[in-house]
Amino acid sequence: MKTALITGSSSGIGLGIARAFAQAGYQIALNGLEKNGPEIADALAKEFNVRVIFFDANLLQPEAIEAFVKRTETELGGVDVLVNNAGMQFVAPIEEFPVQKWDMILALNLTAAFHTTRLVLPGMKARKWGRVINIASAHGLVASEFKSAYVAAKHGLVGFTKVTALEGAPHGITANAVCPGYVDTPLVRGQIADQAKTHGMSEEEVISKVMLQKHAVKKFVTTEALGALCVFLCTPAADLMTGTALPVDGGWNAQ
Ligand code: NAD
Repeated sequence: MKTALITGSSSGIGLGIARAFAQAGYQIALNGLEKNGPEIADALAKEFNVRVIFFDANLLQPEAIEAFVKRTETELGGVDVLVNNAGMQFVAPIEEFPVQKWDMILALNLTAAFHTTRLVLPGMKARKWGRVINIASAHGLVASEFKSAYVAAKHGLVGFTKVTALEGAPHGITANAVCPGYVDTPLVRGQIADQAKTHGMSEEEVISKVMLQKHAVKKFVTTEALGALCVFLCTPAADLMTGTALPVDGGWNAQ
């Protein structure tokens, strides 16, 4: 039985991805800062009849990441699939961007993926198989104003994915980035509220005039679709897909 470690998986996209892997029969290492993480893990284990452990490791702390990976290896026998999903957003013009927020966004959205990857690669190499999936963003491929730290981190994550793919290739390890457009999660709900205040719009107007305006298909991306794509990337059909950045963005990148 294979194990998937998914960061930031007690909410939003990460939880959708964890559900998809649990449904596919994987053991799950769940992580996040949500207080009800242990209950979410128990519910997932019961629903899909798989082992699920939860660890509230703060990914801004390299020692906590190390402890999380070690515990997963000890309790679940190794990490076969790593999904770097945890991320945060902050919106401000460059000259007003709080330095501390910049550092935090780079640390969580980019550097944490370096730490998890460097820690799981030895086990993947020993087993001659591994899958690394980095949840980047449409903002890993294109920019929007006022999102400097996020866009820089996500472009960086796409670059890091490519290096992981090259170094992993001789060892049966693939690495791919998934680049979602807007997904209706707590992270996006926070942005909707902020932008409504900034632009003096209603939340419905922010959704249609600011967010979905970017999508050619005027719908939010679903967590279920992203989970299914991640599971597909771990099937034999995807063995030769590596170093890619896959947009799931309703056609945003076609413009
Ligand atoms: P979310 O806020 O719903 O979930 C984020 C998860 O990360 C939560 O479980 C949270 O507890 C965890 N987390 C935050 N800080 C952490 C820390 N320091 N240590 C450990 N865990 C931490 O967000 P989401 O919308 O599901 O986003 C998930 C990922 O998808 C992010 O990387 C985000 O950039 C990316 N993404 C989201 C969208 C979108 O529209 N929602 C679009 C493209 C990409």
